[in-house]
Amino acid sequence: MMPFCYRCASELKEGVPPGDDRVRQYCQHCGYVHYTNPTLLVAVVLYCGDKLFWARRMIDPAKGLWSFPSGFIESGETPQQAASRELFEETKISIPSEDMLLMSIGSVVSIDQVYMSFRCPVKQLLDASITAETAEWGWFSEGEAPWETMAYPELEPNFRQIYQWAQNDRFSIRIGEVSYSGHYQQFPLHD
Ligand SMILES: [Zn+2]
Repeated sequence: MMPFCYRCASELKEGVPPGDDRVRQYCQHCGYVHYTNPTLLVAVVLYCGDKLFWARRMIDPAKGLWSFPSGFIESGETPQQAASRELFEETKISIPSEDMLLMSIGSVVSIDQVYMSFRCPVKQLLDASITAETAEWGWFSEGEAPWETMAYPELEPNFRQIYQWAQNDRFSIRIGEVSYSGHYQQFPLHD
């Protein structure tokens, strides 16, 4: 929510702006409309044989819990560049953006976030570093994975499916969503 107009500092009104069909915040004085859109994020799945790379988060949200490296796409970046940068910032693992392969696009509608997830096959279990964002890291098989302390448990079926794909090194791009009720479902883009 933004209380005042970005252009003329008048108080913003909530309602349907003239000529629009959605409720938004807008300025009755100068006509400025405060559009909001989902935020774009990336996640990176490194895999080697039957193991995936997990990182335990040092910061909120989900501080202390395990997930895959992820973060916001900055202005001026492509999603692949963001994936490469976030991976490096969080773990000091350096993988060029060209090696980021699209795996899925997922929406979390309740918090207006869209994730583009990338996968990276690697030939060996790479060493990572503890950083300001990562408290701990590890390469885990499906049986070893920290399911009880994962950051977003609603994604467990998705993560388990990634294990199956990684073991066979056969992926197909998916569109997924976490609904308002927290239920995860996904759809193939192609097979
Ligand atoms: Zn205004």
